[in-house]
Amino acid sequence: MYEGAIQDLIDELGRLPGVGPKSAQRIAFHILSADPADVTRLATALRKVKELVRFCAICHNVAESEQCRICRDPRRSDEVLCVVEEPKDVVAIERTGEFRGRYHVLGGAINPLEGVGPDNLRIRELMIRLGEGTVKELILATDPNTEGEATATYIALMVKPMGISVTRLASGLPVGGDLEYADEITLGRAFEGRRAV
Ligand SMILES: [Zn+2]
Repeated sequence: MYEGAIQDLIDELGRLPGVGPKSAQRIAFHILSADPADVTRLATALRKVKELVRFCAICHNVAESEQCRICRDPRRSDEVLCVVEEPKDVVAIERTGEFRGRYHVLGGAINPLEGVGPDNLRIRELMIRLGEGTVKELILATDPNTEGEATATYIALMVKPMGISVTRLASGLPVGGDLEYADEITLGRAFEGRRAV
């Protein structure tokens, strides 16, 4: 449609999740007319996120060093481990202020239609962590949808023989939804009212 750099930018923006062709065009023209200092900051932020951010060696949350902020915190309990799908779920649970244990980020949920099986998630790493014998309770905080439930059921079956208490967040979360969209109070209550599975 356009020539050269502006079309390249529209094409790149259009490949981002949730950005349609019209939004891509609007953002591209916004950038074109923006203050050069603002655009430089955006470009720097894009470059830095790839250079600096990596995944925590213990829980696989996003981190800027070998271990994330939560894994490095000595005041948190090693006895309670909360399993989530994505780093954004860690943020959602941290916002509730209800949880003082550690996390394990799976990197997704079991989804046969999209070719995601247990081997594509960090379930093996989870089993190794649990094998160390420190964790007394495992909280399955995967999303309240089909894939999240399937993942929770799969992990619960594997972990139960290890004699670790396995709990799932209480109902009240919007079914079929995404953990990150639950408000803090609802998610906080779901945490308090977690039940054994
Ligand atoms: Zn970590």
